[in-house]
Amino acid sequence: MPRRKRKPKDPQPAADAVVEEEPCLRQTAPLQLRYYGDPVLRKKAEPVEEITAAELQLAEEMLITMYATGNGIGLAATQVGVLKRFLIVDVGEDDDEAYEPVMLFNPEILSAEGEAVAEEGCLSIPDVTADVKRPEKVVVEGINVARERVRIEADGLLARALQHEIDHLNGVLFIDRLSGLKRQLLSSQLRQIQLAERPR
Ligand code: ZN
Repeated sequence: MPRRKRKPKDPQPAADAVVEEEPCLRQTAPLQLRYYGDPVLRKKAEPVEEITAAELQLAEEMLITMYATGNGIGLAATQVGVLKRFLIVDVGEDDDEAYEPVMLFNPEILSAEGEAVAEEGCLSIPDVTADVKRPEKVVVEGINVARERVRIEADGLLARALQHEIDHLNGVLFIDRLSGLKRQLLSSQLRQIQLAERPR
């Protein structure tokens, strides 16, 4: 899910920074995002049985991929073509150094309450935004990158982002939650995204 008008967090070293050569470390680069029309976005992701080095590598690569977009606040593994139940969300303020992004394996919504409408977008559906109605508060449980079971009581933007990303893990996009009429109004934009030539 993208945030509008956000300064990019840049995990890459500045151009003039001295980068130590570490030949044994794998270079971490952004992954290829998958866009609307890609069948993978409609698939249900599988639970993660064990968090191995490969899952931790995926977590790191997804963070880099999300920050590279400049306005991302959430990303599900499905959006990089990996059908594992894993998501990341960062709704921290730019100047909050202590903020840790949420990174959850096998996230589940335990309870939801209230109702809120707010504008959403999606990194997989560029430049399309719409108001989406969702529960206002959710309690989400999952396993973090330290392999601990954690429970998050979320409201506001965090609650929305978590629900949006969990939807992705079930093959659901935010446009599915719009009325038929609203979706129809977006249909030509969606068609253009579907037809765009993109690297894989
Ligand atoms: Zn999305």
